[in-house]
Amino acid sequence: MQQQQQQQQQAQSTEIGNELQRTKRLQLELRSLVKSGEYDIDLGGDTGDALDIWNIKLYKKNLPQDSGLAADLDELIKRNGQDHIHLQVNFPAQYPTEPPFFRVVSPRFKWHTGHVSVGGSVCLEVLVNTHTAAGYKSRYVMESLLWMVIINLVSDNPAAGVGPGRIDFDAMFGPQPRTGYSEDDARKHFNRIIGQHGWINWSADGRKPCSFAPNCYRKNPQHWAEFSHEGQEAPVERDDAPPYQAPSPPVSTLSPHAQPFVPARSPSSSATPVDGADPARSPLRQ
Ligand SMILES: [Zn+2]
Repeated sequence: MQQQQQQQQQAQSTEIGNELQRTKRLQLELRSLVKSGEYDIDLGGDTGDALDIWNIKLYKKNLPQDSGLAADLDELIKRNGQDHIHLQVNFPAQYPTEPPFFRVVSPRFKWHTGHVSVGGSVCLEVLVNTHTAAGYKSRYVMESLLWMVIINLVSDNPAAGVGPGRIDFDAMFGPQPRTGYSEDDARKHFNRIIGQHGWINWSADGRKPCSFAPNCYRKNPQHWAEFSHEGQEAPVERDDAPPYQAPSPPVSTLSPHAQPFVPARSPSSSATPVDGADPARSPLRQ
């Protein structure tokens, strides 16, 4: 028992240590990127630690000037008044062991351009924890990862059928470009594409990613031990859990005839029932 407690405490302190390390790393990364003066970065999102989500505005000055995407940004200002590409970076709980997740929020890109998926995610092997030479390494700093993303936004890969990144001004591939992408779609298409490439995005603890995450319906603990689910915890399955009980309907929905009959009692006796039972619930005890 004591040993178990010690192990628990040890696990907890390792967790706290990792969390501190992660926060420190994120702060360092952010500071050096802000110090470079190159990028416009806002922290935040709807949930979680603000350090977990970076919103980066890529202006024309951040792109190679001779790229089609830089020219598209001129056009985007004229058409929509938007002067930047909104890039979002999400850091997983296991960062830096696991890679940050990059996605374009808006505008929408033409399909198969700029390594941007149909859902807006940036799909590059360097952003996948493949444990291969071309895959992500925890020593990669954000400044160089961001630069790699930018270079790939404007470059093509004819072998993979990917053209240089272009904005879908005429909504040929979806809604108007300013509509933007959802994070759910981004992650779904990221997982689909890394699957197509045969890239395995290993989690920090050596589990393979479940292809149904984050919407996996499986409850089998064995499955959750073998596969990671984008930081989700296994659903709780307890042997000692109380059996399911249907909730009783609220009293106000009952017709007066359905109310249990309660004989009139003196106020003092109804306030202090002998056995502590609610008299209204046990009319037959009278
Ligand atoms: Zn699963």
